Amino acid sequence: MDFSKPKRPVDRVFLHCSASDSEAHDNIETMRRWHLERGWRDVGYHYFIRKSGELEAGRSLEEVPAAQQGHNTGSIAICLHGLKQEKFTKAQFDTLIALCREIDKAYENQLTFHGHCEVSAKTCPAFDYKTVLGLTESGDRKNAPASEPQRVEQPILELTAKGAAVAHLQALLNEKLQIDLTIDGHFGQLTKAAVISFQRKKGLVDDGTVGRRTWEELLA
Ligand SMILES: [Zn+2]
Repeated sequence: MDFSKPKRPVDRVFLHCSASDSEAHDNIETMRRWHLERGWRDVGYHYFIRKSGELEAGRSLEEVPAAQQGHNTGSIAICLHGLKQEKFTKAQFDTLIALCREIDKAYENQLTFHGHCEVSAKTCPAFDYKTVLGLTESGDRKNAPASEPQRVEQPILELTAKGAAVAHLQALLNEKLQIDLTIDGHFGQLTKAAVISFQRKKGLVDDGTVGRRTWEELLA
């Protein structure tokens, strides 16, 4: 599932239901027709999720939705087909969860997720979205990591190397050897000596240069 951030600012996602269980209405084109009949220029939602779990695209993400009167700015609107709580399907929820995960990830898990009912008197959506998405009171996804893990580069390091990878190396050496190198990102003589003792401990070539094999052992 691919999601690319629109250029307009977004800080919230709103969830809706189509208020119909009719098979004939189970598609974005019906939603579009309903909304055009209201005089809107396009369907109000960005996404529509069919009972089968199939995801359909609605209006462009670059456009503000027409879905939560007075609360459209800064939002993305997702609609699930359905009316009766018990008639929503697991396939729909699986798609919704995957979509929300992707959207949240694109914003470093800073978004909050809400039901239309939070900003209107409507019973929308008709399913228990807080349980389905695992939301906190404020609408954060409970199981979202605080931030995505940083990918750490593992270049070949030797005496006089500098930078974040060296700092990472020093932290790993401290942990593995129970020593207390200063984590300053400078590969000096003390760091080299620590690399050599680590390499000897692991039966590696003790040349004081951190190559692929040494990284593997450090990260094991
Ligand atoms: Zn709604």
